[in-house]
Amino acid sequence: MVNIIMVSSDFSKRIAALQDMIDSSSHIVFFWWAWVSTESWVPDFRSKDGLYNQHDVQFDSYQPEYLLSHSCLYRDTKVFFEYYRQKLDCRGIKPNITHKKLAELEKVWKLTSVITQNIDWLHQKAWSKRVLEIHWTTQRVYCDKCGKRYNPDILFTDKRAIPLCDCWGLLRPDVTLYEEQLPADAWNQAMIDLRTADLLIIWWTSLMVYPANALIQYYRWDKLVIINRDPTSQDSYADLVFHEGLGEVFSALKI
Ligand SMILES: [Zn+2]
Repeated sequence: MVNIIMVSSDFSKRIAALQDMIDSSSHIVFFWWAWVSTESWVPDFRSKDGLYNQHDVQFDSYQPEYLLSHSCLYRDTKVFFEYYRQKLDCRGIKPNITHKKLAELEKVWKLTSVITQNIDWLHQKAWSKRVLEIHWTTQRVYCDKCGKRYNPDILFTDKRAIPLCDCWGLLRPDVTLYEEQLPADAWNQAMIDLRTADLLIIWWTSLMVYPANALIQYYRWDKLVIINRDPTSQDSYADLVFHEGLGEVFSALKI
């Protein structure tokens, strides 16, 4: 099963191969690098429709990374919150089949951890315990002046364009934005888990740039599975490649 790219082979054969890998592994790490982990979530700020909103913010005049950056939060605060409210409101979203199956794998002691950029809390809603949130979470909100903690829903329910604390400090999510320092604890634990993993499954996205690609280097490249709807630059390094959706792959597995 080493260095055999089977992307062109039958889906059921590739699923059987993945099932074998999972059955024979005991330290699986799942790497999920996207801000929001619902497959239905499609960032439409690059598209031609729906560009304007109530504050006349035109998202497509900004780089996607800028909209989730420290600069945007403090320089274009209204833009940041408009984007955040429209794109990262995960309150009503339920875990999907992938979250559930990953939680099952953890329960039977196969999965070491999910290493993720996801900030949507869906793994925790599916009862996963070992979720290493490299970018922390939307589930905590604090005042950047006095440090007071708030219910995270306030960022979505506050009618003001810019949500403020009683002390007039800015309320912000406890999310590590672009240009901010990543939490050392989660990063260090992710390095350890990758070093000791015997199977790495990656949901590869176009955003798999630094630091995600740097983190993956800690894996010993034992068995590598890449799942992505489109071909990736790393496909040739994988033992198994799926160009199907995550839900399609995980639904087919017996866990
Ligand atoms: Zn305050």
